[in-house]
Amino acid sequence: MKRRVRVAAGMAAVCALASTGRAQDLGPGIRRIADGIYVQSAREVNSTAGIVVTREGVVVIDTGQTPVDSRQVLAAVRTLTPLPVRFVINTEVHPDHTTGNFLFSPPAVVINQTGATEAMRTAENPNRFTTAAPEIRAAAEGYRLVTPHVEYQERMTLRVGERTFELLSLKNAHSEADTAVWLPAERVLFAASVALPESLNNVRPFVTIPDILAATRMLRSLRPDVVVPGHGSPGTTRIFDESERYYTLLVERVGGMVKAGRSLEQIRQELKMPEYAGWAYQDRMPTNIDAAYRAVTGK
Ligand SMILES: [Zn+2]
Repeated sequence: MKRRVRVAAGMAAVCALASTGRAQDLGPGIRRIADGIYVQSAREVNSTAGIVVTREGVVVIDTGQTPVDSRQVLAAVRTLTPLPVRFVINTEVHPDHTTGNFLFSPPAVVINQTGATEAMRTAENPNRFTTAAPEIRAAAEGYRLVTPHVEYQERMTLRVGERTFELLSLKNAHSEADTAVWLPAERVLFAASVALPESLNNVRPFVTIPDILAATRMLRSLRPDVVVPGHGSPGTTRIFDESERYYTLLVERVGGMVKAGRSLEQIRQELKMPEYAGWAYQDRMPTNIDAAYRAVTGK
């Protein structure tokens, strides 16, 4: 119940922002979050895709959960403006954010931080659509792996038309190459997948909880009005607060069990986080426990 109220409060902030604009049907799950800025979040756990319209073309931020979503993003762009998509920014390397790159590029130039191309090439499965649902297979027609044309180090400023995009690299926070996109004038932050609303994350072996917390704090310090997470509905910095509370409690509990002499195997079996039982992806808990164990023991 409490959880619902919090989500509702976050959404109210976003809806209030959007309410000044003319309602426009842009397709399933695509809504306006600020002047000229649209977000696709078709289902709560799906990846988000951003459309930012400028006087000199469009910037797309991630390209959809599946090629079906990617085509809906492209159709929404065509409804909004005759201008070309000039840049695609990938907030991470995983296919649910990057597969649709092929629909936008060319002409779009794809950007992510250093290491993205290597990670995408390593993980690429050329047969990935052979067992997919027929509508996804159809939407994937013409698919090819499109990796970033531009890889930046640390941070990058992109100016398109009247808008400024600050690309901020996040280290060891989710995938091999994560980028948050900050629009300082609009106070809108595309936050990548470091913190997901009401959802456990898959904490991979190279990701550390201290790095997640550092990234979360850095992003919160920007003081955005709207936070668009890599998955789920747009909200506010509350997304960061909740993530930080979760990891802090997790590390505290694992730390207590390590002190009490429990092995990692015992902790995996005994540790409970009932406060977060309602979050999505409970099957990711073992990766979270392992990361907390690494944070506590240094192993
Ligand atoms: Zn991911």
